[in-house]
Amino acid sequence: MVQADPWKNALQQLDDACAILKIEKGVRDYLAEPNKVLRVKLPVKMDNGKIRVFTGFRSQHNNDRGPYKGGIRFFDPEGGIEYMEKEVKALSAWMTWKCAVVDVPLGGGKGGIFVNAKKEKLSENELEKLTRRYAYAVSEIIGPKKDIPAPDVYTTGKEMAQIMDVYGKLSGNESEPGVITGKPLSLGGSLARNVATGLGCAYCIREAAKTIGLKLRGAKVVIQGYGNAGTFAAEYLEKMGAKIIAVSDSRGSIINPKGLDSKKVLEFKNKTGSVVGYPGSKKISTEELLTTKCDVLIPAALENQINASIAKKLQCKIIAEAANGPTMPEADPIIYNKKIIVLPDILANSGGVCISYLEWVQNNMGYYWTFDEVAEKMEHHITRGFNDTLALSKKYKIDMRRAAMVLAVTRVVEAFKAKGLWP
Ligand code: NAD
Repeated sequence: MVQADPWKNALQQLDDACAILKIEKGVRDYLAEPNKVLRVKLPVKMDNGKIRVFTGFRSQHNNDRGPYKGGIRFFDPEGGIEYMEKEVKALSAWMTWKCAVVDVPLGGGKGGIFVNAKKEKLSENELEKLTRRYAYAVSEIIGPKKDIPAPDVYTTGKEMAQIMDVYGKLSGNESEPGVITGKPLSLGGSLARNVATGLGCAYCIREAAKTIGLKLRGAKVVIQGYGNAGTFAAEYLEKMGAKIIAVSDSRGSIINPKGLDSKKVLEFKNKTGSVVGYPGSKKISTEELLTTKCDVLIPAALENQINASIAKKLQCKIIAEAANGPTMPEADPIIYNKKIIVLPDILANSGGVCISYLEWVQNNMGYYWTFDEVAEKMEHHITRGFNDTLALSKKYKIDMRRAAMVLAVTRVVEAFKAKGLWP
């Protein structure tokens, strides 16, 4: 099933913020469309000797606050290539807002190739050729001061290293690690990048808990999706004293009201392929997981998980959106009326982009921080992003999602106006 049009959603969110801020139409129009969307043809000679042509994109939404920043995904959404273009455009806009909310001096970009490497059984060699061809095709518009890509769905540090290599060879500057983030440590990657999203989400939850007088010690946490974001959120919340009582993955959901040991659950999942069957736990449905009575619910898997019907049955105090877009727009007013605090995706999962930013800073200065130094700087950005969002939510009497957009749009407009239009 093709999901709701992400580009329409992105525009709606912008329009809501512009209405609250009474932003003139011309500025709204300026903020809506990406500055540039590059669509590239990617011919690759496959292992069987035949040529196959792929399609790739790079959307550069806004760079008023700094170089474009955002991931590259190798993905084949059900809606096809045209749908992917809209998705990439929307995701690039969300990157602009995400960077602005946590006040990192970067703009918004996103890119990708329409491909399902696993399903189509692309060999390592074919995948590398495709990645390098993409890097060549976008090489003129990326760069450490222009546009800094990063890993996203089905791309890793390996592809980032290949893109960096192509960029270096073409630009004649092979020691330019700041062209890309999410690199392996050996090529200038940052410590704490692997834990960034989960740790940032835990910091955000800690701040939200303070505002409602919720003690994290003993607080009950439910996590949908036990992957990178979910497992590290679990680990750090557990360190803060919280109790993880239910988790899930693509094969199902489990609960143990007495608490699950986050590390042992991960070991079990790594061994068996799923959290389902973890000793001492009971299998439950997705709906039961999401509506379990708890203090904190962390959707950390897919988009569109919380619809109006689920929202009515929610029994949590805080929802922290580690995933992108897990709450459907129809659910937002219901959740707001139930006085549940939503930590929106552009804030709750911004730990990743914060550490990408810090990786870029380290690359640019050629000096590298310790894990704790990086984590502390990220904590500062997220904490401030949370407090600034909360202040606007109180000022305008709006939910945290709209407040985060209002904050982001305010910051981008401020930079745009300070620079002025030329010519
Ligand atoms: P991941 O692939 O590491 O983990 C995803 C997890 O979700 C897996 O455990 C998978 O089994 C599970 N899952 C899939 N379908 C499910 C379903 N129907 N029900 C329950 N669980 C299901 O991915 P990730 O990097 O942890 O990303 C998760 C979400 O967080 C995505 O929305 C992603 O865009 C967002 N996010 C991640 C990062 C990051 O740095 N990892 C940054 C920003 C946002």
